[in-house]
Amino acid sequence: MVRELLKELVVNFQSKDKRTRKGIFFVVSGPSGVGKNTLLNYALGRVEGIYYLPSITTRSMRPGEVQGFPYFFVSKAEFEGMITQGAFLEWKQIHTGDYYGTHLPTIVYALENGYDIVTDMDVLGCAEVMERFPGNVVPIFIVPPNMEALRRRLAGREKDPALIARRMARVDMEMGFIDRYRHVIVNDDLERAGKELVRILEQYSQRD
Ligand code: 5GP
Repeated sequence: MVRELLKELVVNFQSKDKRTRKGIFFVVSGPSGVGKNTLLNYALGRVEGIYYLPSITTRSMRPGEVQGFPYFFVSKAEFEGMITQGAFLEWKQIHTGDYYGTHLPTIVYALENGYDIVTDMDVLGCAEVMERFPGNVVPIFIVPPNMEALRRRLAGREKDPALIARRMARVDMEMGFIDRYRHVIVNDDLERAGKELVRILEQYSQRD
């Protein structure tokens, strides 16, 4: 798995989706449990020619997840090997110390060759990516309708109270970055928020 991740792109780009301009890198951030993956799934099923870029992580797979979506799941040793090889644009240890990283060769290829990509990334990673590719990144922030709703969602997904508390502790820090985002979507209703995300993706992607 890791040998392939090191040698190959993690996205199977189709030449029909190639643009004459540079590629756009949509980065979706927001507190854990806010429903980023559900919204991304909704939007990706409704737009043409925008590719989901899976991050690589050491966290364990949750029900409903598969190898490659929403992540490539690797061991800690494998991830650390990839860090040494320079495989990541950026990487972070989040929550319980699990690693998350974005695959540098795939991003460089997409942006240089006119492919539009979208990924989910924490606020610190997004800040780094905006600095590195200022002209290519469209940052989008997803917020919960209120904090109680977020707590309920996190409790539904995660049973360990200590882990819920740790994730909630990150929320304030993440909300502090909201002003740096070009678009903010309130995830109050999947259809409504999903349509808003589709509109934003299309608004940029359809430009020449
Ligand atoms: P979860 O474990 O809930 O899927 O994700 C935890 C956090 O990791 C989320 O805030 C998500 O946005 C972030 N994340 C996922 N992939 C990456 C990545 O490649 N880089 C960074 N910096 N954060 C990531």
